[in-house]
Order: sequence, then structure tokens, then C-alpha cells
Amino acid sequence: MGEYLVRCLGCGRIHPPHALACENDDSLLRTEYASKRLALRGDLSGLWKFYDWLPVKEPLRGSGEKPVTYKSEGLARALDLEELYISFSGYWPERGAKMTTCSFKDLEAPPTVERMMEAEDARVLVVASAGNTARAFAQAASAVDLPLVLVVPASGIHRLWIDGDLPESVLVISVKGDYTEAIDLASRLEAHPRFVGEGGARNVARRDGMGVVVLDAALSMKSLPEHYFQAIGSGTGGISAWEASHRLLGDGRFGRRLPRLHLAQNSPCAPVYAAWTGSMLEAGRCPGGMYDDVLYNRKPPYAVKGGVREALEETGGEVYGITNQEAREAQKIFEESEDIDILPAAAVAVAALLRAARSGAVAKRDLTLLNITGGGISRAKEELKMNYLKCDIEVSPSAFRSESTSTSYSDLLAEIDEILGRRG
Ligand SMILES: *Cc1c(COP(=O)(O)O)cnc(C)c1O
Repeated sequence: MGEYLVRCLGCGRIHPPHALACENDDSLLRTEYASKRLALRGDLSGLWKFYDWLPVKEPLRGSGEKPVTYKSEGLARALDLEELYISFSGYWPERGAKMTTCSFKDLEAPPTVERMMEAEDARVLVVASAGNTARAFAQAASAVDLPLVLVVPASGIHRLWIDGDLPESVLVISVKGDYTEAIDLASRLEAHPRFVGEGGARNVARRDGMGVVVLDAALSMKSLPEHYFQAIGSGTGGISAWEASHRLLGDGRFGRRLPRLHLAQNSPCAPVYAAWTGSMLEAGRCPGGMYDDVLYNRKPPYAVKGGVREALEETGGEVYGITNQEAREAQKIFEESEDIDILPAAAVAVAALLRAARSGAVAKRDLTLLNITGGGISRAKEELKMNYLKCDIEVSPSAFRSESTSTSYSDLLAEIDEILGRRG
């Protein structure tokens, strides 16, 4: 059970289970599970039911909810679609959705944190995030007291709440700059032997965790969908959906065709859209002005072997550039027809579906899966006791550019050590 190999998609070599990169080329690594048939683990809950296809030895204590898949009535009627299913990652207790951090980053963080624990890696995990990822990692790490350094742009601090007590093991660095500058500082920390990055799209635990969306949906739909809609920044979720679909083809009970990926970006901050359509990227002031800046990613894993381009090519996929106006309209239609609030990022996916339904790219009877990647925050805030994480260290990005040898960087390291040490 849970047996797997990690193979490089470029050179084909088998790698140690915790490898994030191949030493020969820059291709993604992928897991190959011994079990080829999807069997649910009835003794485990949430995400961990898919244990056989997750790269972990054990479930992580105290976290790991799964998305719920249901057949849409309201939105389906509004779009005149008959076979529309929704995968909902978020908080919606009436439907059984209990992710208290309210986004599908809750599928990535628990397996990643569990693997950190299993590897008995003494290094401190560093995560850079504009918000949803940070929240999910804070929740997962705090459940098991794993030391974690979150590097967040100042504008994202308000998104850092968790359900429950404020975690002692989590240290928050606020960067007075944008997400890109937060990533730069995190990369600099990751290069230090005391820290380790989570690897983003390169981490098989993140991808296989997100793959649960398609696994759960296929069980509900009794088939792979013909179309898969998702809002993307990096596109890691799209890669995950494609990989999970391949596994389901291998199972044999869920159809013989890969779903078409319909990936939605928020224009003009849409590098995957630009690369796919060959259009100009006008990302000058990005992520400023975005409908949801969690969808901004400067360096998506697009052209690498096993990356977004290959997933799109193999599935006959499409990328959409969605304007704020379209996203706003779609959010309204969704929330009125399905009766739950969604994150703005998810509305970008709804807008893509709206376009595809109107143009006929998705026909009335096509089996379609819409991934609502986050929602139910209003619902969660009514019911749960939310605690907001506080900023522990505030830094200005100019002091930490890679060429800088200023003492402020060593001061920062000392301060991190001091705080983590004090908290034990
Ligand atoms: C991160 C995120 C996305 C985009 O995910 P990818 O990694 O680009 O697939 C979409 N919606 C929400 C709510 C997110 O947090």
C-alpha cells in the first residue's frame, strides 16, 4: 500500500522518493504507484482515503479534508448544461466540505508536511505565498508543530488566518513589496542549509494531493469528465488533473479519454495564456489590479517536460484570458445560482466555463467538471473561530537582493533562529 517510485519524465531514471529535481535535466519527476486500481481506504478519512495514490507512509494528524463533488443544478440551469459537476474545495458543511482554510491548497499542504515529517528533515520549511498557500501550510504545520517560515507580501497578511489557536511553530515574515519580492527572499533563504523550500510544482506530494480533485470527481461521476475547468496561476493544478486522469485511464473503469483541460488565467497578468496563444504578455504592473492575485505566477512550469504545455497538448486543451469584468459577472452568476460564496480566483474558472458554454465549445450534454478551487469563506467566518496570524518580522526587499552582502541578511537569519528557538 502506498508503494511508489519517483521517475524523471525526461531521462526515465528512478529517483529517491523525496527528490524534487533530476540531476540530468529539468524535467518534472512523477510518482508511479504500485496499485493501478483506485481503491478507497475506508479506514481513513478525507484526502487520506486516496492513500494508495498519495506519496506518504501515513496520514498527517489533524488535517487533510477532501473536496466534495456534486452535480450542479443551479449553475447548470443558468448555463443550460445537463451534465455539469462541481468539485468544491472550501467550507460548506451542508455539502460535507470542511476545509477551514477554504481553498484547494488544503490538498497540497498536508501531504507535503507529512512528507517533511517522514523524511525527518531537520531543516526548516520555507513557503512563499500571496495568501492561500500560506494559510494551508500554517494549518497543516501547526497541527503537528512543524517549524515553518512563511514569507508573505504585506498585502497578503490579511489572508493569514487559521481555525484554532495561533501556531507557535509558524513564523511570519512580511515583505514590504509584492509577491515576486517575497519569492525572491524565500529563494534566498532556501539556498541556506538551515532551510528547505517546498518545491512548488516540482513536489510530487503537492501535485498528487491536488490530483484528488479528479479522483474524487471520477468516483462521483462514474467516469472521467470530458472537460475540466480550473483557474490557474502556475498551472500546477492543471498538471495534477492530467496526471490523475492518466492514472484513472490505467485503472480502466473510468473511460478511455483524457479530459480536455480548460485553464483560465486573469488577463492581462496571464503568462500561460500568452505562451499558449503566442500573444504579447503585458505584465508590467502585475499583480496590481488583478481580480485575484493568487493567480499570479511569474515562472509557471510551462515548457518543461511534464509541464503545462504538454498537459494542454495531450488533452487538446485550451487557455482562457479572463478579464476582471467577466470574472465579476461569473462570480455573481455562480453565487446566486449555487448559493455559496466563492473565492475570486474560482470565479475566473466560472467565467471560462461561461464563455465555453456560450460559444458551444462545451455542448449541453458534455460531461463537465468545474473545479471551484476555493469558497465558503463567509460561511466559515460565521461559524468558526478565526485567529489572524501576526507578522513576526517585517523586512524591506531591497536589503535582501541576491547580490547584496549586507549585514541585514545575517541579522534576519539570527532573528529567525532566535524566534524559533524561543518558541521551542
Ligand atoms: C493557487 C490557487 C489557484 C491556482 O492554482 P494552480 O497551482 O495554478 O493550479 C486557483 N484557485 C485558488 C483559490 C488558488 O488558491
